[in-house]
Amino acid sequence: MEEGGGEEYLFKIVVIGDSAVGKSNLLSRFARDEFDHNSKATIGVEFQTQVVELDGKEVKAQVWDTAGQERFRAVTSAYYRGAVGALVVYDISRKTTFESVKRWLDELNTHCDTTVARMLVGNKCDLENIREVSVDEGKSLAEEEGLFFIETSALDSTNVNKAFEIVIREIYEKVSRKIL
Ligand code: GDP
Ligand code: MG
Repeated sequence: MEEGGGEEYLFKIVVIGDSAVGKSNLLSRFARDEFDHNSKATIGVEFQTQVVELDGKEVKAQVWDTAGQERFRAVTSAYYRGAVGALVVYDISRKTTFESVKRWLDELNTHCDTTVARMLVGNKCDLENIREVSVDEGKSLAEEEGLFFIETSALDSTNVNKAFEIVIREIYEKVSRKIL
């Protein structure tokens, strides 16, 4: 996290979770309001910056995308370095991606402080008809692990901005209280 000009903040936020849960699309929906049906198109993109205003202060959210590295189980420590927020994403229509959440949290904990603002994100909530993970399962895991929880759809935009905004707000409050 960097602070410049007295009123300017830069928050690094990482998006993690199994391959194909929708990480890249959450990011492009948030940063550019775009949805990409061709998942391969995101390879190579490392981060996107979105400016938000909080209490009259300019906050730059620099959101990092694994850019496909996770497929090879090789998200490097450079990816996590300096992160102050994390979105741990699973796909509500694929139970295995939910079962991986603990592994992603373990990995986050090896690389980052426990003070990092965390949000559990159940993406693809538009796929209600093939849902494999209930809202309650998501909620209770989040409670157990001390995470915020939200269900999103990068496809139809449900809660995407809200997910990022909650994390950014939490980081901002921690920074203001000098916890981060
Ligand atoms: P990543 O590997 O986690 O970055 O996942 P991508 O963002 O590349 O998305 C993987 C696949 O899921 C692509 O085919 C997307 O079109 C699709 N996808 C992503 N988000 C959603 C969503 O909210 N709803 C639905 N139905 N499909 C999604
Ligand atoms: Mg991706």
